[in-house]
Amino acid sequence: MAEHLDVLVVGGGLAGITAALELQRLGRRVLLVERAAQLGGKAGSTETSLGSFPTGPTSFNGRHPAFWRLLELLGLTEDATRLRPASASRFIVRGGKLRGLRPSPLSVLSTGALTLGDKWSLAKEFMWPSPARADLSDESLESLLVRRFGQKTVDHFLAAVMTGIFAGDLRALSAQACMPALVTAEKEYGSVIKGALKAMKTSEPGARAGLYTFSKGFGVVGERAAQRLSCSMETELDSLSFTPEGVTVTGRRKNEPVEFHAARVVIATEADVAARLLGRALPAAARVLSEFTYAPVTLLQWAEQVPGDSRLPPGFGYLAAPVEELFALGTLFVGDLLEESPRRFSTFIGGALNPSRAALSDGELLAGFRGDLNRLTGGSVGQVMQVVRWPRAVFQPTVGHAGQVARLRSSLAGQPVALAGSYFGGAAMKDAIISGFAAAEGLSALSPTLSFAGESEVVGQVESLVSA
Ligand SMILES: Cc1cc2nc3c(=O)[nH]c(=O)nc-3n(C[C@H](O)[C@H](O)[C@H](O)COP(=O)(O)OP(=O)(O)OC[C@H]3O[C@@H](n4cnc5c(N)ncnc54)[C@H](O)[C@@H]3O)c2cc1C
Repeated sequence: MAEHLDVLVVGGGLAGITAALELQRLGRRVLLVERAAQLGGKAGSTETSLGSFPTGPTSFNGRHPAFWRLLELLGLTEDATRLRPASASRFIVRGGKLRGLRPSPLSVLSTGALTLGDKWSLAKEFMWPSPARADLSDESLESLLVRRFGQKTVDHFLAAVMTGIFAGDLRALSAQACMPALVTAEKEYGSVIKGALKAMKTSEPGARAGLYTFSKGFGVVGERAAQRLSCSMETELDSLSFTPEGVTVTGRRKNEPVEFHAARVVIATEADVAARLLGRALPAAARVLSEFTYAPVTLLQWAEQVPGDSRLPPGFGYLAAPVEELFALGTLFVGDLLEESPRRFSTFIGGALNPSRAALSDGELLAGFRGDLNRLTGGSVGQVMQVVRWPRAVFQPTVGHAGQVARLRSSLAGQPVALAGSYFGGAAMKDAIISGFAAAEGLSALSPTLSFAGESEVVGQVESLVSA
């Protein structure tokens, strides 16, 4: 079947879905190729007999307009549901106990998650600004936070908060890449708290207040994308070469060899897969991509068998800093986000500091977490519904990341290839989505040989198109 294929998008996570939808909106003929049987990548959900469990993220912050732009392309804006007030309470483990923390400045004064010493170090940072370092080079997240708040507050409090975002090692993560707003705030105001409070008051056009999720689960994103895009599912691509007409990419669909030709390609896979694909065609880009690392995370997902038997209080979830020496990084109370019953939980295990834990057997994971829950509440784990393993769960932007991204961009300049993925700009969903829009816009701007749908030029032939 001959197709006027302008762009091949490899990888159907949030970055690839965004790039494909935006290119389609711009009038390009696009094919999205995905290794798995469904789209969405890490942002998905599984239906079980006791309700839906997220396989990755559970909610998103409405203050990032990129989410709304993507949801509009998917026709899912109305499906985004604001989290219920009961989920506003968060917990930090301190001294082996769950300490409540509500998202309000007053809660910082009353919470047991912070000692008097911590509160004093936060107050000092806010009230007596001090200049940023003269050295403009990147530093670790730990170095920035310790300079501003002191080692104890970082070890016992901020390390827990950051674990929930990066599951990473604060000594290795880049302050500039992970928390650019804090770095700017320190430079502008001499106080990261002042800067953060100011940033909370400003909002970009298209932003909405609050945290949101989907009542049908995050899987709805991939399902809707599959309805709106031409896709080749269960197709794993492994090699890419340039041709006079553009790009040829080959791989296998269910063990059958496949070959795709297009004027342009967006690679929206994890960085190591992108490195393999580009190894021959763009070795300089491949070298940078192969330096990138991810933290592994395994999710133990479970539900209360008898209401209240976990003895966990209602809320969003809890996080534990490494000094607490718990088995798991934390637990999200996924059923509480929309106040559903039975209460369902997703426990995060592993991360950059304990990668081997993420690889333990199901039985070992359960035994380890039982110990945690026993220590924290004396409650029981109830019914385990599933174990989700992500050997490359969360991208780790380490010190010097901005330089790596700059080298990557310069090695791609003028090429018929764009990259998209959470590793551009950070590690989060918003970074993946923003990179997808940027890849689509970059390729469209390139053009002279990029054909437009409706024009007569045939730029490629798709061996077969499978619309999922
Ligand atoms: C447990 C967990 C919790 C998280 N929580 C949050 C959160 O609360 N907030 C937040 O912002 N972020 C969170 N994240 C991170 C977020 O999920 C990711 O940043 C984002 O989903 C990454 O999207 P992506 O498109 O860059 O990559 P991916 O989702 O990894 O997509 C890559 C896609 O490429 C496909 N692929 C790979 N190789 C090939 C190949 N050779 N051929 C074809 N296709 C291929 C894969 O199957 C996959 O679908 C979480 C991640 C995990 C794992």
